[in-house]
Amino acid sequence: MVSVLGIHAYQQHRPQAPLQDAPHNTADVAMNQVSDTDNEDDDGDSDDIHFAVDTAGAQLLTALSHTDPIDTDSTTISPFHQRFLSALTTGNDADFSDELPYDDDALGNQGALDQEVATEPSDDQLRWLSYTVQPGDSFGSIAAQSMGLDAVKVSNLLNSLPDNNTRRILTQLRIGMSIDYQVDARNQLVSLRVMRTARDGLLLTHEDSGRYAYTNIHRNVEPMQRTYAGTVNGSFGQSAQASGLSSSEVTEITRALSRKLNFRAQARAGDQFQALIEADTLDGKKLGSRVLAIQYKGASSNVTLVRYNDSFYTPDGRGLDPSFNRFPFSGQHPVTSAFDLTRLHPVTHRVAPHHGTDFGMPTGTTIKSPSAGVVTQVAYNQYAGHYLVIDHGEGLKTRYLHLSRSLVRQGERVNMGAPIALSGSTGRVTGPHLHYEVLVSNRAVDPMRVKLPNGQQLSGAQLASFKRQAQQFIARLSSPDNDRAYAQNGNASLQEGKGS
Ligand SMILES: [Zn+2]
Repeated sequence: MVSVLGIHAYQQHRPQAPLQDAPHNTADVAMNQVSDTDNEDDDGDSDDIHFAVDTAGAQLLTALSHTDPIDTDSTTISPFHQRFLSALTTGNDADFSDELPYDDDALGNQGALDQEVATEPSDDQLRWLSYTVQPGDSFGSIAAQSMGLDAVKVSNLLNSLPDNNTRRILTQLRIGMSIDYQVDARNQLVSLRVMRTARDGLLLTHEDSGRYAYTNIHRNVEPMQRTYAGTVNGSFGQSAQASGLSSSEVTEITRALSRKLNFRAQARAGDQFQALIEADTLDGKKLGSRVLAIQYKGASSNVTLVRYNDSFYTPDGRGLDPSFNRFPFSGQHPVTSAFDLTRLHPVTHRVAPHHGTDFGMPTGTTIKSPSAGVVTQVAYNQYAGHYLVIDHGEGLKTRYLHLSRSLVRQGERVNMGAPIALSGSTGRVTGPHLHYEVLVSNRAVDPMRVKLPNGQQLSGAQLASFKRQAQQFIARLSSPDNDRAYAQNGNASLQEGKGS
């Protein structure tokens, strides 16, 4: 069958140098001839036949002629071409797969052939296809169904990857991710491209050895900053989205602001907001985005938040995450004796101020540092039993009495939530409990009522670098890029006029 043989011949004789373009009319002639002979001699290999028809006979001719180059200044043609042309016109099978010596024998209308063979064929023979991963797919099933790879070839391909971590990109496919693959004219897999993220991925290219050469793909992503502004009119979410922010950006902004602002109680129509967004773009397409700064100016609230190291801080460098827990343990333990400066002592029955909060808990309960700090004392006395003191800075200290044992040493630095001791019943007690004290400037205060710092304060070089960044971001907030900001403002004031 002509077309199939022609393609096989092409694949064994790849052209080395580019040629000029062929005129389309002569290509069409060649195409028709190929498809005519196919109809007479169809061996059922329909892919190959379609290929021969679809990819223009001119390229087929080019490929063949280019293998045995024709001197464009002469009227010579090789026996190789003669047999090809003869097959085209007669429908007889011909074998083009072997390379034949150049022959000076001329063919009558050589000038026309010279033109129609002059096309660069190589890239058009390879096609990129794409597959989107569906629920229930595995790389094996996709490879078998879409790329014609059997189990041996799949394992060969996976083994071409350097380590399990890299293999995971194929063995742990995410639903919706796309797998791009390149096949040749015979639908054989040539390359496979999978992106782990929009930026990073891998490219596998089939080699003659049967193995796959592996390349990391890293695309450069350009960040772009843009300021959105708007006015609250209806819900904050709707108003933010109306300013042009995406729903995921609105979600991130709402989540951050709600740490500082009670939307239901404090948000009013007419409140102003700005958001500075940084979006990653690749080839002009927006990928992920980050909220860099937010400003909310309302009748009863004024909040500015700036991103730093993936967390939001107020402009003075205080974080949103609580930096001080109310309770120095996990779970719930009842208050058995509250802070009380006029209490009767349970053992002596004399008026004796209670400088802390007692929590009833079984001996051996883990006590955790409510905030970051430094252990300043680990000691024992007959009243307090085993006790320890932690200095949290900013004038705050905590004390823990009646412990069964300490888990930290004096001078040790502890993080928020770090286990520091096991509770007990040492010292003068009526039963196992934790006596917990909070001291502000060395004066005991009610641990259940004291106003605790609500965010980690940046300090030192971090604070300096944060402030430089915050200054830039806040300056950008005051110059919105979205056209709709102003129109939106106009609408809102109209709405307000109607008393909404
Ligand atoms: Zn107590």
